[in-house]
Amino acid sequence: MSLPKYQHFINNEWCDPTNNMWYESFNPYTAKPWCLIPKGNKEDVELAIGSAHQAFKTGEWPTLTPTQRGQLLYKLGDLIAEHADKLAEIEVMDNGKLISEMSAQLHYLPQWFYYFGGLADKIEGSVIPIDKPQVFNYTRYEPLGVVVAITPWNSPLLLASWKIAPALAAGNTIVLKPSEFTSASAFEFAKLFKAAGFPPGVLNVISGFGRDIGDDLVLHPQVAKVAFTGGTETGKRVYENAAKGIKKVSLELGGKSPNIVFDDANIDNAVKGVISGIFAATGQTCIAGSRLLVQASIHDEFVDKIVKLAKTAKMGDPLSFETQVGPVSTEPQFEKILSYLKLAKEEGAHCVLGGDRAKSSQAGTGWFVEPSIYTHVHNKMRIAQEEIFGPVLAVIPFKDDEEAISIANDIPYGLAAGLWTNDIKRILELSNKLQAGTVWVNTYRMLSYLSPFGGYKMSGIGRESGKEAIYNYLQAKSVWISTQTETPNPFVMRLK
Ligand code: NAD
Repeated sequence: MSLPKYQHFINNEWCDPTNNMWYESFNPYTAKPWCLIPKGNKEDVELAIGSAHQAFKTGEWPTLTPTQRGQLLYKLGDLIAEHADKLAEIEVMDNGKLISEMSAQLHYLPQWFYYFGGLADKIEGSVIPIDKPQVFNYTRYEPLGVVVAITPWNSPLLLASWKIAPALAAGNTIVLKPSEFTSASAFEFAKLFKAAGFPPGVLNVISGFGRDIGDDLVLHPQVAKVAFTGGTETGKRVYENAAKGIKKVSLELGGKSPNIVFDDANIDNAVKGVISGIFAATGQTCIAGSRLLVQASIHDEFVDKIVKLAKTAKMGDPLSFETQVGPVSTEPQFEKILSYLKLAKEEGAHCVLGGDRAKSSQAGTGWFVEPSIYTHVHNKMRIAQEEIFGPVLAVIPFKDDEEAISIANDIPYGLAAGLWTNDIKRILELSNKLQAGTVWVNTYRMLSYLSPFGGYKMSGIGRESGKEAIYNYLQAKSVWISTQTETPNPFVMRLK
């Protein structure tokens, strides 16, 4: 049986990759290929960026008013809502995340297009009460130009939309390169984009391996901005390459987030929060609460409870709404997680749950790892410092507030943190002290189009969602208009 075959989307047209090469995309549940993805190369990069550049400079897009851009984003949001179930299924086929999660994610996705569609005509400059007579000074916000958006495999359309919606609301054009492991949904999205009535070249989607075309995309002289989500090592390379052209950059990178539980917390809620923080999405989220910091006075009782709840997790087909833990998304990631389970043993951590590939008869033929919990971990161990991106929890005890905050912040990352306590003074003090872009108190893993998201330290640069996000895609211009009848001394800068 022949597999469905995708094409590149350039200038609102579907086209084969210039080298006529495709590769197989695998379903992580079966570890079998299910569709064919174009293997883009440098020539495809040229075509896609050329199309986006042309669309930014000429044609219909720059003539649209911000209100008209917003209306197109609304239309796109409506089409996503209409096709959410199909898009969710495609995501699951490609990345193995649970249909219950992807379906909720895809039905929520239109909100980003409505929010930024609404914001498109509310970006206002200002008139500055300038400190010089007979001069009128005002600011305006202008788009940057061609934006290259590069995304990972764990939440493909969500993370692409966090870039596409604000970038288009601001008037830019885009080349999207999804992860080589999960490109299908980006092409399905492009079909809706075209149907929404956007002019040609405004969004272009090409696929391919990061090692083949990543550098070409970032280094291209016609690219004004790179919006990247992915691992910190790749992020560093993107940042270095972008620096060569002094390009604007936003980076959403890795994390190793602490979930901190105090003995005064509602323990049953904290248990659920900790489990959802690490085992939802099989731990393959940048915000995974992969370090559990638990107050020593409740350590043993708490560990017993999380092990008990984790054991009930039903592994299986991610397309079933009954399944609670799905496969790992890619084979390299599966191997990476297994190598960390081996390392945990070598470092002397005690495995209290899992610790191996899944043998459960519920698991498919794909890449399944047992939910794994380790105690006797100290924060300097590699399993406590490095992002595993899998269902692996490192438990670290602490004495008091001071020690909790010191362990929590002793990490190169700063994406998110969870705090479980009922003490309002502690909530306020520790939320301020936590070096993380998002702090959840008595909850975990909540996101909205309304609230900014991004990393401290090596977890990234810039913010996505909320009003902050649109300024990642705009630049301020200051305009000075003189009403003087005579220009003063031309040899001296005018300061008064
Ligand atoms: P990755 O860094 O391997 O790949 C991300 C993207 O970068 C892919 O599209 C890849 O093709 C591309 N790429 C590879 N080399 C490149 C290069 N030289 N130049 C430009 N692009 C290149 O990441 P991944 O394995 O796909 O995703 C997992 C990582 O993403 C984790 O570290 C996770 O924490 C991070 N992530 C972060 C967030 C966030 O919002 N902070 C969200 C999700 C995932």
